[in-house]
Amino acid sequence: MNASHPSASLFDSFGRRIDYLRVSVTDRCDLRCTYCLPKDFKGYEEPADWLTHAEMKRLVGIFVGLGVGKVRLTGGEPLLRRGIADLAAGIAALPGLTDLSLSSNGTQLARHAVALHAAGVSRLNISLDTLDANCFARITGRDCLADVLEGLTAAKEAGFAPIKLNMVVQSDINEAEVERMVEFSMQHGFILRLIETMPIGDTGREASYVDLSTLGQRMAQRFGLLPQVLGAGSGPARYWSSADGHMSLGVITPMSQHFCAACNRVRLSVNGTLYLCLGQEDKLDLGMLMLSGSSDAELRWHIREAISRKPERHEFNTRPEKIIRFMAQTGG
Ligand code: SAM
Repeated sequence: MNASHPSASLFDSFGRRIDYLRVSVTDRCDLRCTYCLPKDFKGYEEPADWLTHAEMKRLVGIFVGLGVGKVRLTGGEPLLRRGIADLAAGIAALPGLTDLSLSSNGTQLARHAVALHAAGVSRLNISLDTLDANCFARITGRDCLADVLEGLTAAKEAGFAPIKLNMVVQSDINEAEVERMVEFSMQHGFILRLIETMPIGDTGREASYVDLSTLGQRMAQRFGLLPQVLGAGSGPARYWSSADGHMSLGVITPMSQHFCAACNRVRLSVNGTLYLCLGQEDKLDLGMLMLSGSSDAELRWHIREAISRKPERHEFNTRPEKIIRFMAQTGG
């Protein structure tokens, strides 16, 4: 069946079309951002229950056959996964896939950028919370801002455009850096997205929070940015852009103004667990079903059944204690 045929599409019980899959290719990371992973989180060994490249391609292919056109490789830090460019190339070649992107912390990007671009990754999101080396080390636990900046340069040179910078904003830590980050993004033509901290895991709950709905508006005024009107399916951020369109500023406000009504995504973890919502426990153990010999047709049936159970919304504001898994484990 053709992926663009309506009956090949996934709809949940709230009428939302699910056409975006985020795939965590590892739950490990070389940084320990205070709001994300605890200091004593696991090392770099690869557990036996991780999906192999072939298993990942098989599962992603089934989703693409069900009308999922957009896939993002994430983690953990995806560039730590062995053979990431080969894996990306295999996924990029799936018929029906229209957009393959990747999220990275940028520390290893300088040596991967060319291969990722050649593999068919079309867009990159890079985490960058500050341009101050001390502040960077304080947030991430490592003194390697220079590596990330080198990675950004390499990504531009490799031809990635646009490049989005994801800045998680915390009061008293990097809130005062937002202006500098806007200027930096203007200078380089990056899309800067400010993100509110979410109470995911103990780490996320301990993070300090800033309401970005108002901060975004203030920054837009300060830099003379104009509101952008984007169509449905353009993601959770609200954007402003410079008059020449060279730079955009976005805010992602899961806490102050949630956007669950427009949610179009589900997440596949590195052991094949399908998480139906970032802020709920509802899931499907696709890895186990695959290991026990389920056919593609059976996996499709289970995926459709799970999507029909996708929760209406997260409960971060009313039940912040709910999600104990860390962002890197779900596939942030
Ligand atoms: N390592 C990759 C990266 O840095 O983009 C991909 C995984 S990382 C978990 C994805 C994004 O989640 C990053 O931008 C990170 O800052 C964000 N993140 C992690 N924990 C968060 C939290 N508690 N609240 C908001 N964003 C969070």
